[in-house]
Amino acid sequence: MGRPAMLTVDDDAAVSRAVARDLRRRYGQEYQIIRASSGTEGLEVLRDIKLRGGRVAVLLADYRMPQMNGIEFLEQAMDLFPNARRALMTAYADTEAAIDAINVVDVDHYLLKPWDPPEEKFYPVVDELLGAWQAAGDREVEEVKVVGHRWNAASYKLRDFLAQNLVPYRWYSADEPEGRRLLDAAGVGLQAVPLVVTPDGRPLSSPTATEVAAAVGLSTAPVRDFYDLIIVGGGPAGLGAAVYGASEGLHTVLVERRAVGGQAGQSSRIENYLGFPDGVSGTQLADRARRQAVKFEAEVLTTRDVVGLSAHGGAHVVSFGDGTELSAHAVIIATGVSYRPLVAPGVAELTGRGVYYGSAATEGPACADTDVFIVGGANSAGQAALFFCRYARSVTLIVRGDSLERSMSYYLIQQLAAIDNIEVRTGTEVMEARGEEHLEAVTLCDSKRGNSMTLPAEHLFVFIGAEPRTEWLDGAVSRDSRGFIYTGPDLLTGGRRPTGWDRDRDPYYLECSVPGIFAAGDVRANSVKRVASAVGEGAMAVSLVNTYLEAQ
Ligand SMILES: Cc1cc2nc3c(=O)[nH]c(=O)nc-3n(C[C@H](O)[C@H](O)[C@H](O)COP(=O)(O)OP(=O)(O)OC[C@H]3O[C@@H](n4cnc5c(N)ncnc54)[C@H](O)[C@@H]3O)c2cc1C
Repeated sequence: MGRPAMLTVDDDAAVSRAVARDLRRRYGQEYQIIRASSGTEGLEVLRDIKLRGGRVAVLLADYRMPQMNGIEFLEQAMDLFPNARRALMTAYADTEAAIDAINVVDVDHYLLKPWDPPEEKFYPVVDELLGAWQAAGDREVEEVKVVGHRWNAASYKLRDFLAQNLVPYRWYSADEPEGRRLLDAAGVGLQAVPLVVTPDGRPLSSPTATEVAAAVGLSTAPVRDFYDLIIVGGGPAGLGAAVYGASEGLHTVLVERRAVGGQAGQSSRIENYLGFPDGVSGTQLADRARRQAVKFEAEVLTTRDVVGLSAHGGAHVVSFGDGTELSAHAVIIATGVSYRPLVAPGVAELTGRGVYYGSAATEGPACADTDVFIVGGANSAGQAALFFCRYARSVTLIVRGDSLERSMSYYLIQQLAAIDNIEVRTGTEVMEARGEEHLEAVTLCDSKRGNSMTLPAEHLFVFIGAEPRTEWLDGAVSRDSRGFIYTGPDLLTGGRRPTGWDRDRDPYYLECSVPGIFAAGDVRANSVKRVASAVGEGAMAVSLVNTYLEAQ
């Protein structure tokens, strides 16, 4: 923890040095003594301390200074550090002004210059100021700070991104005094939210995910331009491939468009993954896997969206959204699936402002004592209901089908049935989401009874199945009508190899219609949609990559 600051502001260099010397002698061990030669400079120092998350215990300002006098300085300093204790230093002639200041700007004390001996005339006052500050105090905040609006979609996306990457941060609403202070310290207004302040005090207004990732120390740029293996997608399949690829000595880079973990990273508790009898949260699992991959020297890049795949000579080239490219001997596509959008009036407009795709674990505490609606009848929706019922007044699971039995695991159905504040409405669909600034109500249609109802709602979480987003592979590898990638035996029609196939062997089990390109996990046609199978396919794909490379 850094030491709290004591700031003295005086335009007279000799006096300023004397004050700092006296302060340092008695308080220098525990406090950082800082000098400024004008009110403007003092305020700059304070803004910097605020952005770094530091604390200010005491402000001592000379009354008579050009441009900004001590009272004006203390008044503005209070906006940044309201808990810092304040004293005005005056010459005898200015005593009256000092007394006025005590009444006008809530100055705690005034000190008459000179104050020799300090033991009698200076330290007792400063001791009193420090005592008052210690009683009220300020906490030091060393982590990333985010200032935003609760119902602002960009603020939500940013928090979700940090949470998924397990980056600790402290959230400040722009409506709270401390949020406003941080905006002031960064010199920006409300239109700049979300504002991110890095632990070293750097403010970033409405940053992109890549800017945030780089600022908090996540890798976003590759170290080399040619690799043995490029893995696209950082879900369980991609992470599995990265661990096995790197541990077997392949120069491996994993490229993830958002945060590692994929769908699994959204799961509040995975209970059926081997080796975790008490369950494990998806973020924990993803974080362990990422560290394991990095330990074996795989590069893990986040916020990099792959938008194209092509062949150049013997190499495979992936291209990114920003126009840059990366090449490798082999590529594993592990891009999984993404949530299908819920189509109903109002849903798109309120997404990120009460309507969320996935479990949005960051929203848990915000759901306290509210009515939460979850759309979907599969395990992911069931898990989310179990997660949110710990916070919410009520959780309603909206299921289109007429029972859960066909879509959800037995153990989850049992758990849901045992919890009082969870209601399951089968045969029900969302007709509309309503709200001005944020979600306020949902209209549901009960197909069994043939009626509709509008209920108050603050949160609607959508889990309605998923689809692969593989449009970027158009013309590159062969896919089924829904976009899932064909591999191995699925590519052989009537025993015939795929068009353009130039090897005198069949495609390996997880190989795509182009030699050297493999697919693993949920993105693969006919795959088992589970964490364990995705991890297993990632590992198996690496073994096939090795076989492919040996034959080259
Ligand atoms: C809420 C929830 C709970 C679940 N619970 C369980 C459970 O308890 N047990 C279980 O076995 N399974 C569970 N599943 C299913 C399991 O999570 C998936 O089967 C598994 O995550 C699939 O892994 P994957 O790596 O193939 O794909 P994904 O997990 O979908 O990961 C794909 C990754 O690729 C990235 N990506 C996509 N396109 C690109 C691109 N163009 N460029 C760069 N990156 C890209 C995505 O951002 C994503 O991170 C759950 C799923 C959900 C949604």
